[in-house]
Amino acid sequence: MIRRKYLCLHAHFYQPARGNPVTGEVGVEPSAAPYQNWNERITAECYRPNAELGNLQHLSFNFNETLLTWLERRHPDVYQMVLDADRYNVATYGAGNAVASTMHHTILPLARRRDKRTQVAWGRAAFIYRFGRPPEGIWLPEMAADLETLSVIQELGFQFTILSRGQIASGPKDEKVEEPAGPYWVALPGGERIAVFVRHERFSRELAFNIGTLGGAAHWTHRALMPYRRYAGPLSLAAVDGETFGHHHQGEYQFLRWLMRYEAAASGYPTTTLARFFQDNPPQEFVEIKERTSWSCYHGLARWVSGCDCTPGPSNWKGALRRALDNLAHEIDLLYVRMVEPLGVDPWALRDGYMAVIFDRIAGPGYLAQAGLRLDENTAARVLDMLRAQYHAQVMYTSCAFFFENLNRPEPRYAIANAAYALHLARRATGVDLSGLFRNDLAVTYGGGDGSNGMEIYDAVVRELGIERLPG
Ligand SMILES: [Zn+2]
Repeated sequence: MIRRKYLCLHAHFYQPARGNPVTGEVGVEPSAAPYQNWNERITAECYRPNAELGNLQHLSFNFNETLLTWLERRHPDVYQMVLDADRYNVATYGAGNAVASTMHHTILPLARRRDKRTQVAWGRAAFIYRFGRPPEGIWLPEMAADLETLSVIQELGFQFTILSRGQIASGPKDEKVEEPAGPYWVALPGGERIAVFVRHERFSRELAFNIGTLGGAAHWTHRALMPYRRYAGPLSLAAVDGETFGHHHQGEYQFLRWLMRYEAAASGYPTTTLARFFQDNPPQEFVEIKERTSWSCYHGLARWVSGCDCTPGPSNWKGALRRALDNLAHEIDLLYVRMVEPLGVDPWALRDGYMAVIFDRIAGPGYLAQAGLRLDENTAARVLDMLRAQYHAQVMYTSCAFFFENLNRPEPRYAIANAAYALHLARRATGVDLSGLFRNDLAVTYGGGDGSNGMEIYDAVVRELGIERLPG
């Protein structure tokens, strides 16, 4: 009997967070016309048609948290179809097809351990609130990984994540098998282990970059999938941005529909999902990872830390911006710890549980009482302000701020806006004003294509969003 060989297609759905951190509104983006902004346009081009065609239920997918928050508010019917796709898989196969995301799109290997933990704990809690079940797997932003990140996801109960081939340093080599997806074990420093799926580079790249020229799903499966079947392992995994299907490539939700419903199976590759495959095929062998790597920078993590050739022009503003954010985060943390520790609670555990308040599962004062804090109204309000400041200090590390070539773009502006809001809340809670420190650090951040520096962008953002006029 010939062993079955499966195809899994994982889609990562994401939009960079932008707009106003105080109201949560994306606002108007003229370049997205005739739509109000790019979220609206990409919903029409991609999220909605894929949901309505039933494509989501055949994929393994993750929708980033900030995108789900927006969809829930703006397009509740599309949001419901995302949840239903997972529910259908749970009911039909005993394993859902949704994979969790971190809360914000943070490059985790660049984050401190406690920040890694908060991002993963918040992402896990958000997944449970939305999908009503614990997640098995998690998507790491930009697939950026190191052993500490993998340890944190294992500690918080995740069973697997996904990496690209170039992130695997060594492991089982079978000359007869081309690009097997595993899953494989990765040994962790504490003696534990975590599973990783490895994506098929050729399949993934053909879909991500050339889907419009592949001649349709039937032609592609005949040319690319069928001849390769004898060299395939039990699972071949393509992993791409979900926006590939309809936004990056217009109308290609039809490719996805035909591929996943008919053509893959007709070519000898029944489709599966990561959690379903994992349930029946636990890892057998170990691999080692290349630490501090990602799927979208060829220089390790330089794209988000020092700048590199992945973006044109001088990109050393990225390091200067990171220094400004790090200094601010450090000062906000000091204020927060100084306020909360004398009350007898672990500040970081209190922060990790704060997602219940963000999701309105419990009111702020109720959350503090549940954590064992008996506080007068004024002290409770100050602690809640500092928790909210912690939240926005997490948002400011969203990777998109560092992804592009120009500091004066909506994504870095959004990071700076979140920093401004966090320091406003910290000032209201403690009376300590960190804006002087932050503006000084931003003044040496030169990277606006128009010659502007970070301090000028900060001043403009504070004015535009009316942060100075918020109740102090
Ligand atoms: Zn790079």
